[in-house]
Amino acid sequence: MNFAEFAPDYIRSIAPYQPGKPISELARELGLDEANIIKLASNENPLGISPLAKQAIADAMAEAALYPDGNAFELKQVICAKFGVSAAQIVPGNGSNDVLEIAARAFLAPGVEAVYSQHAFAVYPLVTQATGASGISVPAKNFGHDLHEMRAAVTTKTRVLFIANPNNPTGTLLEKLALHDFLRDLPEHVLVVLDEAYDEYLPDDKKSDSIAWLREFDNLIVTRTLSKAYGLAGLRVGFALAHPAVADMMNRVRQPFNVNSLAQAAAIAALKDDDFVRRSRDLNDAGMRQITDGLSQLGLRYIPSFGNFVSFYVANAAAVNQKLLQRGVIVRPIFAYEMPDWLRVSIGLPQENARFLEAMQAILAEGN
Ligand SMILES: *Cc1c(COP(=O)(O)O)cnc(C)c1O
Repeated sequence: MNFAEFAPDYIRSIAPYQPGKPISELARELGLDEANIIKLASNENPLGISPLAKQAIADAMAEAALYPDGNAFELKQVICAKFGVSAAQIVPGNGSNDVLEIAARAFLAPGVEAVYSQHAFAVYPLVTQATGASGISVPAKNFGHDLHEMRAAVTTKTRVLFIANPNNPTGTLLEKLALHDFLRDLPEHVLVVLDEAYDEYLPDDKKSDSIAWLREFDNLIVTRTLSKAYGLAGLRVGFALAHPAVADMMNRVRQPFNVNSLAQAAAIAALKDDDFVRRSRDLNDAGMRQITDGLSQLGLRYIPSFGNFVSFYVANAAAVNQKLLQRGVIVRPIFAYEMPDWLRVSIGLPQENARFLEAMQAILAEGN
């Protein structure tokens, strides 16, 4: 029996997502000691988890036999206070990937279209294809979103348009004025999912006014995550902010208990831990300088990045990646992003960044 035949064509044609290799997997594969492996492959927070969030999880553990609050009341209160939105505008997610998928399921179907950029976050085509809608990939400009061409790709069938700002894996950032003009000129039947997973790493003058724009544009969906600067990637918490009518549709397809109780408790604490986010950003700024200076010294070209990662060019990226793995350094090949000659490295602790650069130096000296 070929069960694949029972899946619709649009499901069978989905290319599986390629996650960063876990440390335990590399240790098993190459017989390395886990303690000697560093993972700079998934844009995780090198500071770990906020101490306040850690304590909140410990406190919440006693209630783990009970279902979580499906309405995430307290988490929503914290988000309301922090962002000045109403609870009806919030869609909590099991990571922001979940809210991206929820947006797709709520508004896409066979016969309609979603627009996204070449080299943009891989989850946009994945969640689009899973609904049977057509995904329109618009060629990138200087590795970033080409807003002019994205506007031109919008048709009467377009229902959702995804923008990652900054984008992963290229780290490119759109000017906020250009982004605002783009939103203003877009027809209202297109919902814009503005994915700001790396917003906390931006200097204040580069941050968009997305939260204020929610009052101006009923068709705007802003997504945020606790996985990066807040350090909760393993717990899976994110959320979308949107017009109440849009959030209402999204909440109808959301699984009622999609954010578990430990994750809710951790997120409530983490969102209040401004000091931790500041330290994460400062560490990232310094690490970004360390890595980009190091790449320059090695003569490697990179794309200036506004995230907690940077993509750099190497001929035969697959071979270099393999050699990095042998040296216990996990980075991310991004061939699935139509960037077969590039690798993406996440910014780590100073000693991790140094180890990555030393490994690259040794590999290049071997003649790669
Ligand atoms: C990491 C990342 C996310 C966050 O995903 P989670 O599901 O919240 O962990 C979202 N969007 C982009 C562009 C990312 O790089």
